Amino acid sequence: MIKLDFHPAGRHFLQIPGPSPVPDRILRAMSYPTIDHRGPEFGAVGLKVLAGIQKIFKTEHPVVIYPASGTGAWEAALSNTLSPGDRVLMYETGHFATLWKKMAESLGLRPEFLGLPGIEGWRRGVQPDMVEAHLRSDTEHGIKAVCVVHNETSTGVTSDIAAVRKAIDAAGHPALLLVDTISGLASADYRHDEWGVDVTVSGSQKGLMLPPGISFNAVSPKALAASKTAKLPRSFWGWDEIIEMNRTGYWPYTPNTNLLYGLSEALDMILEEGLDNVFARHQRLAEACRRAVRAWGLEIQCADPAVYSPVLTGVMMPEGIDADAVRRTIYDRFNMSLGTGLGKVRGRMFRIGHLGDCNDLTLMAALAGCEMGLKLSGVSVAGSGVSAAMEYLAAHAQPLSLKAAA
Ligand SMILES: *Cc1c(COP(=O)(O)O)cnc(C)c1O
Repeated sequence: MIKLDFHPAGRHFLQIPGPSPVPDRILRAMSYPTIDHRGPEFGAVGLKVLAGIQKIFKTEHPVVIYPASGTGAWEAALSNTLSPGDRVLMYETGHFATLWKKMAESLGLRPEFLGLPGIEGWRRGVQPDMVEAHLRSDTEHGIKAVCVVHNETSTGVTSDIAAVRKAIDAAGHPALLLVDTISGLASADYRHDEWGVDVTVSGSQKGLMLPPGISFNAVSPKALAASKTAKLPRSFWGWDEIIEMNRTGYWPYTPNTNLLYGLSEALDMILEEGLDNVFARHQRLAEACRRAVRAWGLEIQCADPAVYSPVLTGVMMPEGIDADAVRRTIYDRFNMSLGTGLGKVRGRMFRIGHLGDCNDLTLMAALAGCEMGLKLSGVSVAGSGVSAAMEYLAAHAQPLSLKAAA
């Protein structure tokens, strides 16, 4: 029998970039009884979370909530807006962008995959000038959507979504803009309406601090209009019926009641702290983490400081070191999970998540585990990353009283 309550002393450090640790407050909220999803109490919960999640996406338009992982919401974004054989411009920032492109192919779309060549492309964000040039060459407007990942979780690189919007407009191109911020939402600044995004895809288990299991489509009026004529087959993912029933706080099928309790609590927590404070906390922890990596003498996967991810840091291993062996040592010795290298960077780097329910001392413990694990794995580190991060955090303290007052 598998023992689900396996519990060595102390707590497990879940430092992967999603699922992120679920705060006790959210776990408690999720333990309330499952109620009638057609009853009066449920409608009140539904209306509350639907209104609250709009504040997180910064949109005044509908946000559809699915009982599915982020992958489901990817499919929903494509199948609601596009038709078989449609050309779509996608951009290779890393593993997740690659998976989304594979999905587009399997749905019968024709993706055109832009990107910088080789591994270099996995160290930088979307290049808006490449998007603009490609769209300019599409004089007949055959490309129906531009799909980009805001926070590429496989590498720790973000992309400037406002600049992608500008590139589309500069080319005078009518394509929809679809953005995956599954791991960026509620950790990195994001503005669905202001940045002119047509569909934003997100999920529960990263910045929102929930377990996996619900995901989102924020939908612009232009995307909603496109859905009226889009011909890809869809039923479960169809926006129309869900948005219609959401007006009164209900869903056409059984929604994930207990995860919606969790979402309600997560929204309270995030809005109490204040979105700007949440973003600042992530930036601060990410900077401390990067200082640690530099002090170790190791390279950060993201090669462009302008687009460092506030969510996670990719740490490249020196030649001859298997990053997964280092991760295994850290797991076995210190009960900490780090993110593995995915796709093209498998074995060459690991990822430290510093998102969601994370504070100074969480990060310090995680960095201590990394530093000890690197040494045990025979990586000759140049200096103490732990000291470098401590110095930065101590010099840039953010008192609790200040956070509470916000
Ligand atoms: C986690 C993640 C996904 C996949 O979401 P699932 O919930 O695992 O289906 C897709 N894109 C990005 C950027 C992610 O971080």
